[in-house]
Amino acid sequence: MERTEQRAGWRFDNRYARLPELFYVRQEPVQVREPRLVMLNEPLAAELGLDAEALRSPEGVEVLAGNRLPEGAEPLAQAYAGHQFGYFTMLGDGRALLLGEQLTPSGARIDIQLKGSGRTPYSRGGDGRAALGPMLREYIISEAMHALGIPTTRSLAVVKTGMPVIRETVLQGAVLTRTAASHLRVGTFQFAAWRGSRDDLKALADFAIARHMPEAAEDKQPYLALLREVIERQAALIARWMLVGFIHGVMNTDNMTISGETIDYGPCAFMDEYDPLTVFSSIDTHGRYAYGRQPAIGAWNLARLAEALLPLLHEDEEKAVELAEEALGEYAGWYERHWLQGMRAKLGLFGEEEEDEALARDLLELMRKARADYTRTFFDLTLGRPEDTPMHGTREFEDWLARRQRRLARQPQTEAEVRRLMMSANPAVIPRNYRVEEALAAAEAGDLSVMERLLAALAAPYDYDADHADYAAVPPKPDRPYRTYCGT
Ligand code: AMP
Ligand code: MG
Repeated sequence: MERTEQRAGWRFDNRYARLPELFYVRQEPVQVREPRLVMLNEPLAAELGLDAEALRSPEGVEVLAGNRLPEGAEPLAQAYAGHQFGYFTMLGDGRALLLGEQLTPSGARIDIQLKGSGRTPYSRGGDGRAALGPMLREYIISEAMHALGIPTTRSLAVVKTGMPVIRETVLQGAVLTRTAASHLRVGTFQFAAWRGSRDDLKALADFAIARHMPEAAEDKQPYLALLREVIERQAALIARWMLVGFIHGVMNTDNMTISGETIDYGPCAFMDEYDPLTVFSSIDTHGRYAYGRQPAIGAWNLARLAEALLPLLHEDEEKAVELAEEALGEYAGWYERHWLQGMRAKLGLFGEEEEDEALARDLLELMRKARADYTRTFFDLTLGRPEDTPMHGTREFEDWLARRQRRLARQPQTEAEVRRLMMSANPAVIPRNYRVEEALAAAEAGDLSVMERLLAALAAPYDYDADHADYAAVPPKPDRPYRTYCGT
């Protein structure tokens, strides 16, 4: 395949490609017919040390489509396994390729991955391709998550391929360039434990430590430190999801990162009315990945990581199990602390009082009963307008407001300080499902202006001064429940 010169600023140093060969298959992207750039994330390009103008040039677009390789890229499909809805299976990059690890001007090392780049040995029955709508959807929601301050993979570009992809209907094909701290997953470790030797597993663990938590290498028990670090990062991440009403939708172990970033924007969506049982994914018929189950599923997935790491935790298996259980036992506490701290900020509470957790949980229960919009309720409370919430007028809510008022009165902070804290924790704008759909429909018809406007609003979710009225409004009641789709 043709290589391109360095004008765009590609600067690869590929460590994953130095792992034992078991962990990947070298594979070039499959050529596409007529690449056309649809989206380019200029701020992200700058962070990566890439020149936006060069990326927009015909040669740059050829790279983003997989028709040309940047100098230094070593394209490969990563091997991984995973539990999908509880069932263990071999997976791997079936429609994605890691081009390499970009060294950024700030000294970070970022995976550059093409998603939708054609078949690989891990494609099973799939066509290796992606459709434009879902790739733009990943772009919108991952960038919204980033702006919300939630660790996530990001979207550098979306390119149309000029080739159809066949799903239920004929759709436009597209390639997304995804960036990540790394694409290591719980499922990568499951794969190593299942198919590899102890040395292979160790090589992977050492790679993860060097990449994501170099301080763990100095620990007396580096692999236990690795496990504990992933547990804490995931506890923090899932707490952040819960605090903004994000439903991942497909928390299979292959979709849980070691870095602590959110990955895989398939059937995810933000909850409107507060209800822990909310599910959007069309295939999640039993609600395994419902909003309120996410913290527990996180623990289940981390137990799979711990199992995979057992051979490295201790020579004596019993002792290894003991250490793993001890580490897993810390998850719930970490999660609760992160969640409660976030809830305090959402309610404007400084310091810590015994009663805080009940105050938060009691409000959520009132919201559930009143079918209150999750984001809008906290937005209204931030603006000091409880009378705008659907709980208004009930005796229970008046009691709750009085309790909160007494709690606020016990802290020294001023009203302005309380409001500032709340504004930093309660987004005015989230990617509302109907707004996302509207943007995608226009984009698929060739009009990107709706998506551009939405992205601009989502880029400043905590800016209460911006004119966000269109995006902050409670959505109209849909005619039928919102549905999202996997692997589309
Ligand atoms: P996901 O649902 O995106 O987590 O994907 C689960 C697995 O299915 C991964 O191994 C993907 O690479 C694979 N996969 C999803 N879509 C396709 C496709 N169109 N062609 C080949 N493999 C796919
Ligand atoms: Mg996946």
